[in-house]
Amino acid sequence: MRDLAAIAAAVVRCRRCPELRAYTAQVAREKKRAHRDCSYWGKPVPGFGDSHAGMVLVGLAPGAHGSNRTGRPFTGDASGDFLYPALYRAGFASAPVARDRNDGLVLADCYITAAARCAPPGNKPTPGELKNCFPYLLEEFDALDRIVVMVGLGAIGFNAVLRVLDRRGFAFGPPKPVFSHGAQYVARNDRRTISAIASFHPSRQNTNTGKLTVAMFDAIFTLAKEILARAGGADRPSADPVPSSAHPSSSPERLDSSGTR
Ligand code: SF4
Repeated sequence: MRDLAAIAAAVVRCRRCPELRAYTAQVAREKKRAHRDCSYWGKPVPGFGDSHAGMVLVGLAPGAHGSNRTGRPFTGDASGDFLYPALYRAGFASAPVARDRNDGLVLADCYITAAARCAPPGNKPTPGELKNCFPYLLEEFDALDRIVVMVGLGAIGFNAVLRVLDRRGFAFGPPKPVFSHGAQYVARNDRRTISAIASFHPSRQNTNTGKLTVAMFDAIFTLAKEILARAGGADRPSADPVPSSAHPSSSPERLDSSGTR
């Protein structure tokens, strides 16, 4: 079994979806006007957080000019501007702001990952791309052996949570899980109990329209904290983030002229 650092290194090297790798490279090459002076990451984005996490967040995929630019989940875009303050208010993040992967932000009892790790066109990974990326989520689940609650951000993130639990032999009692903001379902196998929570994704589309409010999002993490506390979260070790060495430097793998690297 690989540890989180080894999984992260494998993710960054991954080329299972050539079209996505070409797209992320193209975005990194062309850039957005507002970020034209940035050196884009332009590769698959590995998970980020506390290796002893009791709570795992599963998002959709990197944003083209957010984490595809910065190399860290939810960092550098509007979704992160909504997520990290919520995590900070709930005590899961050391700061309410996430600017870049070297900003010193630390997560405690929280790990953030995604259903797909390459930015997809239109924020819509294909079923085949989600399938290609799923083994990494399973590996992270196995490496994070203290998980007691998983939060799916958006329907695709929540479905990924359900699939991971199913593949690891967890069963949900009735009713069958259905995506609905704030819904909580309890899964059990012969050794462990894990709660799955569904949340609207903190995308600009959801937060600007009021579909997801600050209060609604805070309630998700209040619920997660209650679950962690019942599971002995207060006795958990303090934050032990994946070391920065797990995020290979952006400098050795810059784009070549063809954009395919
Ligand atoms: S989406 Fe996942 S499986 Fe596909 S290339 Fe990126 S990291 Fe690899």
